[in-house]
Amino acid sequence: MRIDILTLFPQMCENVLKESIIGRARERGLIEISCRDIREYTADKHRRVDDTPYGGGMGMVMQTQPIYDCFKSLCEDSGRRPHLIYMSPQGKTLTQKRAIELSRFEHIALLCGHYEGVDERVLEEIVDEEISVGDYVLTGGELPALVLADCVARMIPGVLSGEEAFTNESHFSSLLEYPQYTRPVEWRGREVPEVLLSGHHANIEKWRREQSLKRTLEKRPEMLEKADLTREDRKYLDRLIKEKEEEKKRKEEQ
Ligand code: SAM
Repeated sequence: MRIDILTLFPQMCENVLKESIIGRARERGLIEISCRDIREYTADKHRRVDDTPYGGGMGMVMQTQPIYDCFKSLCEDSGRRPHLIYMSPQGKTLTQKRAIELSRFEHIALLCGHYEGVDERVLEEIVDEEISVGDYVLTGGELPALVLADCVARMIPGVLSGEEAFTNESHFSSLLEYPQYTRPVEWRGREVPEVLLSGHHANIEKWRREQSLKRTLEKRPEMLEKADLTREDRKYLDRLIKEKEEEKKRKEEQ
């Protein structure tokens, strides 16, 4: 898979993408991620890429020409038109589900806005989809693009050590992940749950599933509506809910 990031700050993206798991995946050729400097495509002799907004108001707006030419050159160089996503607080919020879908695309490109945003006409002309990383506003699209690239890249076979590395994780199956522990067995009087030291795989699996259900019920109960639950899961959840109600009653009576 290939991801191109169209940005005024390529170094900001490169600094992150060369590190850790994504950096290694790039080196191993599992994913191709490149950054294109939009400023390189400006036709302005002073290398300007933005101007004041028509109608007045604060800040600067990124101009159509450098963005359009940057995307056009990407299409020409790669010999195809990638699916272009504009990182925007006005887009649909990124979800694990959409990241999985995007990881199946051959080639995507991420357009990062900056300042007050981007001239609407170039968005209408070339953008296929708008994605937000949450209901808040950042100074630029670089951090959102890095979030999306990271989330998509780790879904690509081989990037993580095994498929299990993400299929068990929070949000993959609309459940939060069970708690994790590593050495030492005891730390400041807190011990690792005994079942995890037992070597009994079936019991460990059962414990993890139950912890996962328990956490989701406690932290994000609305997620359970979309989760794929077995009869055993439902029975376990009903028991937890009943226990919680009984405890609440007991406390009220005290
Ligand atoms: N004036 C714009 C508005 O109100 O919709 C916000 C512009 S913002 C200051 C500058 C750039 O940051 C945007 O063009 C976008 O690329 C990026 N950005 C900011 N917040 C974002 C978010 N939550 N998700 C994705 N991109 C975001």
